[in-house]
Amino acid sequence: MKKPEKKVVISILYWILGLLMVMGMPQILLHLQTRNISYSEFKVLLRQGRVIEVRLSPETVQGIAFTGTEKNIDAIREQVARISSGSSVTGRLFSDGGGQSLQQIINALKKDPGFSASFEIFSTNRVKDPDLVKELDEHGVVYEGVRESMLGQIFWGTIVPIAFWVGLWFLLVRGMGKPGAGLLSIGKSRAKVAVEKDTGVSFDDVAGCVEAKEELEEVVSFLKEPQRYEALGAQIPKGVLLVGPPGTGKTLLSRALAGEAGVPFYTISGSEFVEMFVGVGAARVRDLFAQAKRNAPCIIFIDEIDAIGKFRGGVMPGGHEEREQTLNQLLVEMDGFEPNIGVILLAATNRPEVLDPALLRPGRFDRQVVLDAPDLKGREAILKVHARGKPLSRDADLHAIAQRTPGFSGADLANIMNEAALLAARQGAKEITQEFLEEAAEKVFAGPERKSRRLGKRERRRVAVHEAGHALVAFHCPNAQPVAKISIIPRGKAALGYTLQLPEEESFLMTRSELLDRICVAMGGRAAELEVLGEESSGAQNDLETATDIARSMVARFGMSEAIGPVALSRETNPFLRPSGLFEQNETMSQELASSMDREVRRVLTEQEQRAKNIIAENRKALEEVAEKLLTDEVLAASEFEHIVRDGKEDDGE
Ligand code: ADP
Ligand code: MG
Ligand code: ZN
Repeated sequence: MKKPEKKVVISILYWILGLLMVMGMPQILLHLQTRNISYSEFKVLLRQGRVIEVRLSPETVQGIAFTGTEKNIDAIREQVARISSGSSVTGRLFSDGGGQSLQQIINALKKDPGFSASFEIFSTNRVKDPDLVKELDEHGVVYEGVRESMLGQIFWGTIVPIAFWVGLWFLLVRGMGKPGAGLLSIGKSRAKVAVEKDTGVSFDDVAGCVEAKEELEEVVSFLKEPQRYEALGAQIPKGVLLVGPPGTGKTLLSRALAGEAGVPFYTISGSEFVEMFVGVGAARVRDLFAQAKRNAPCIIFIDEIDAIGKFRGGVMPGGHEEREQTLNQLLVEMDGFEPNIGVILLAATNRPEVLDPALLRPGRFDRQVVLDAPDLKGREAILKVHARGKPLSRDADLHAIAQRTPGFSGADLANIMNEAALLAARQGAKEITQEFLEEAAEKVFAGPERKSRRLGKRERRRVAVHEAGHALVAFHCPNAQPVAKISIIPRGKAALGYTLQLPEEESFLMTRSELLDRICVAMGGRAAELEVLGEESSGAQNDLETATDIARSMVARFGMSEAIGPVALSRETNPFLRPSGLFEQNETMSQELASSMDREVRRVLTEQEQRAKNIIAENRKALEEVAEKLLTDEVLAASEFEHIVRDGKEDDGE
């Protein structure tokens, strides 16, 4: 059960209980069942012996009398005496729970077929009647005096308990606003106040992202000395949006910001809002801002804001009211506070393209800080941060690890350091060596080695030939990244073997010939299988997908096909899914254009396949040698591989 639902259930129970208590209030029951009679009628009932109990207040006489035939009265009296088992029925009737026990007596009597009689409750206004008490005694009536009037009874017995119940409710609900208060915090945000010592993170813990830190530095100094900015009339941004792929340190950076500024840090995750009932999310947002304003200067951090900030009026019908209400409330609140009040709104997302444009308008999240996957320097710095407190051996070279991990996120790098420490611990080493680091990097990159997955002899040979094919083609393509390692140890979920290529230097662009060479290398595995083993296998599926993605991008997005020309026919839907399989085609594209695009893609692919086949055929001897070596050694380092390929070449020359 989700937490908010639990709260609703608890509060519903609370009110049902309250209602039962009030409904069961004896005074009200009595009042509802009471028949008002005249004093003379009362006297008649009394003389007939029908009255068993009365209650005398200054103004009224209330009591219980039998109805039914006179004959049974004596028998009934006996019965009552038995049921009330000797004790006075009166006490139970008029005091606590009296209504209940009256009902019990009636029910018990009704079960017995011998009695046709039943009770009734009567009430009458008192007249001056000095002999009343004497007459009551004569007829064996139990009587007691009360000071209050009927109204007084209703007041004390009903209105006061209701007021108490409602008052308790308000106390409970109000108490919830404070952090940690449990039970009934409906509509109150659970946003936790994390102050500096709680986050325990500073900018020093965030490596790389220099520009992002610089931008946020300004926010920190504003929170520390708002007067300085006010004096100069400087406008400080209300909202800062951190944008970047997963694992680049967005959450970490916001926590560091709060730590640096030393102000309260209200953090809440967008996904928390989604699970709530309609209206609750909006109430939470309202409450979150109210709390924050009271505690300014402070930071409100909404992690994964895309969960609530998605473009409104999207494709899916219905079911989105909650999110929209929450988003609308967020917009209202953002507009509702003055920029200089000292509340800074921080949000993070890895999907900025799905955000509602209204969120990005001036006066809202008008400043965006981009966190990219770290570059070489950044990666080394991140590795260093996470190497703190871990004993590295002298040969450990973090720079080398950074070089072999292009495209890794901060989270991946943190993971590498941790894995390396785990590996070292597992082997009883005292220090983390370069070997452990490299093994950890590979594990993070391709998944753990699965030595237990035993391939059959023939399959192993096929994998060796396939990988040797990739490596050989890469070696002979002038613009391909050099081969760093070849392995036929199964890793992760799918890969049976892999060829690791590493760039000589980091690049942000790819030229046409580099892209073509990549396609060619991807085709290399399949081409080798065809050449050496006579037929291809399903193992090339992944390679074909990669090659096709690149070819499509070249034709449809990079304008690298003469037949199509410099037209962008599709665009990247998500800038962070770089070699994305998500392909959004231009809707206005004609059938004709679409088919010529497909033709072009196929042409590029077949051309590169042919090129790969040629390279393989020309170097068949080297290919088989590499494959053999792989079968014996399982793993080939760059130097070993190059040694074989170079030797082969010299042989050819002679
Ligand atoms: P995001 O919120 O962007 O998905 P996180 O902030 O949760 O990423 O980062 C996950 C982890 O990765 C962090 O806890 C930290 O250990 C590590 N990390 C990411 N970026 C960095 C960085 N720039 N410096 C140091 N550690 C980082
Ligand atoms: Mg995060
Ligand atoms: Zn392959």
